[in-house]
Amino acid sequence: MVPATTVARPANLVGQSETHLCSAEDAELLGARVHRDAIEPFVQLRAAAAAEGFHLAIDSGFRGFERQLSIWNRKATGQLTVLDGEARPLDIGRLKPRELVFAILRWSALPGASRHHWGTDLDVYDQAARPEGYEIQLVPAEVEAGGMFAPLHEWLDRRIAGGSAFGFFRPYDVDRGGVAPERWHLSYGPVASTYLRLLTLDLLRETVERADLGLKDVVIENLPEIYRRFVINLGNNDATA
Ligand SMILES: [Zn+2]
Repeated sequence: MVPATTVARPANLVGQSETHLCSAEDAELLGARVHRDAIEPFVQLRAAAAAEGFHLAIDSGFRGFERQLSIWNRKATGQLTVLDGEARPLDIGRLKPRELVFAILRWSALPGASRHHWGTDLDVYDQAARPEGYEIQLVPAEVEAGGMFAPLHEWLDRRIAGGSAFGFFRPYDVDRGGVAPERWHLSYGPVASTYLRLLTLDLLRETVERADLGLKDVVIENLPEIYRRFVINLGNNDATA
């Protein structure tokens, strides 16, 4: 059964309300703000990881609309680096507006469409494998074979494949022509699948239209394609349902 707290208002879906999140005390213990229904499963996954010598830690949990808007607008104006598919810096002066929008979307969600708005999605790493003073970058080199967090992710792969990841799965497991593969990004499927169903193209359009968003006209013009390629185009969470 879907827990009652999973029922979300539109504002919860697009990062403009925080009523679905855990308490400040829980956030302190977890190291991030997460959806209140994802706390228990995360604690279970973390305990299973600890039994194997990993310290499963959250680099980023909930992110609100304003924060995502700030990331988007700084990328749209060149204040923040936009990366290509291989995570190399792009010269955005050479891109047409539509190309810039799709380049940003490769690594950054459209404000209103980030799964981090839901608190169900977490960027994770292994604190036990993190060298002293090392700043987490969330780049492929950290999580690919030979990377410092690869053993954690290989363990997670086995748990997810075996249906024993307590409902967590990888929405960005492989390249589907939308969001770049993000091995560090886990999602709590039982709540996230409900939220995804409720986040319609119309709700996203209304949200974007109201926002002070860079490249807004280009985004609105291409919104059906953005929705198809970057919002609903995901890894499958059947094994964890
Ligand atoms: Zn993420």
